[in-house]
Amino acid sequence: MSILLRGGLVIYGEGFEPVRADVLIEGDRIVRVARGISAEADEVIDASGRVIIPGLINAHTHSPMTLLRGLADDLPLMEWLQNYIWPAERKLGRREVYWGALLGLIEMAKSGTTTFVDMYFHMDAVAEAVMKVGLRAFLGYGMVDLGNEEKRKAEIRETERFMKFIEELGDRRINFILAPHAPYTCSPECLRWVAERAREGILVTIHLAETREEVKEIKERYGMTPVQLLDSLGLLTPGTIAAHGVWLDERDAKILATREVTIVHCPASNMKLASGVMPLKMLLKAGVNVALGTDGAASNNNLDMLEEMKLVALLHKVHTLDPTVADAKMVLRMATVHGARALGLKAGIIKEGYLADLAVIDFRRPHLRPLNDPVSHLVYSARGGDVEDLIVAGKIVMLDGEVLGVDEEKVLDKVENIREVVI
Ligand SMILES: [Zn+2]
Repeated sequence: MSILLRGGLVIYGEGFEPVRADVLIEGDRIVRVARGISAEADEVIDASGRVIIPGLINAHTHSPMTLLRGLADDLPLMEWLQNYIWPAERKLGRREVYWGALLGLIEMAKSGTTTFVDMYFHMDAVAEAVMKVGLRAFLGYGMVDLGNEEKRKAEIRETERFMKFIEELGDRRINFILAPHAPYTCSPECLRWVAERAREGILVTIHLAETREEVKEIKERYGMTPVQLLDSLGLLTPGTIAAHGVWLDERDAKILATREVTIVHCPASNMKLASGVMPLKMLLKAGVNVALGTDGAASNNNLDMLEEMKLVALLHKVHTLDPTVADAKMVLRMATVHGARALGLKAGIIKEGYLADLAVIDFRRPHLRPLNDPVSHLVYSARGGDVEDLIVAGKIVMLDGEVLGVDEEKVLDKVENIREVVI
């Protein structure tokens, strides 16, 4: 299978240089980026007037939580979780999770996301939804043992079962990731088990230092910060992808940099739940790889990575009173290259030899003209709805705004029905 994208403005290479060029894709790779490519291709997409960008990488979400969008807003994290989100989640079975994930996947595809990291339950239903839509996914069963040995054994069993399930699927776009929920919901024994499995080269995702209360609780319980705790358990490695990292001190930042951990910044969620402002400047200065995520739709309340990029840029400028922090290229790097680095993917850049994961954005719109600076427009002016086509692993997932693998109307009806009957 080959695809030729003709006549677009390509955000090319590591430097994100806008270049007028055609892009030729063969199999799952970008093979040529040049003007006037005359090669034959199975599919030709007219990209004139469009900007072709590396697919966005949502490094932290909970896709089925689209079902809980707008269910309980304007509450602190613990009250929100304990009184609203967890009780609602107890009503969600495999079927509900499947439709919720499909809704999330459609939303992500339509806003330019090609790869996402997901943590939830009934994850085989999420995998089924991913196969339908065709995004690249890293799926983890969210382990929570609350220090209970029986529960821990059950969580380990479910994790192992799901890992085997993903292996047997044999789809290169669908990957397994270990997903202990957080240092405050998982016992050291549980985290140690995860660390042992991670030594086999399996990626890990976890929530880390999200709120001030979490740091206080972990310090009281273990006499260490959450970062120090995970480090003492051997859980901080280059394969660790930790969401939030809001409450970190300089010593934590140094540990994270030394261990080559990725922190996933989720600005919308942190602002909405009033968790705090992640110390982006400090982490970047320490040399930490910082990626970007939306978190679940219940705390965002959408999965639009273009919006998330704008929020990063604005939040850190106003917070530090420094407009030079989080410039457009840096933010785009967080949403692409840094996510790819975390996941060990040769992606996040449009260049020969890289994975053909990219999005085509319609720039013939009033809010995206004149074309003074396409990267600036992407971060500060574009919206999810501007994305027209999406290619993942050399396969067309969305064409002219339509996600091909799924009946969108049916998904919208199903989730409405779930809202009425189940939630
Ligand atoms: Zn989360």
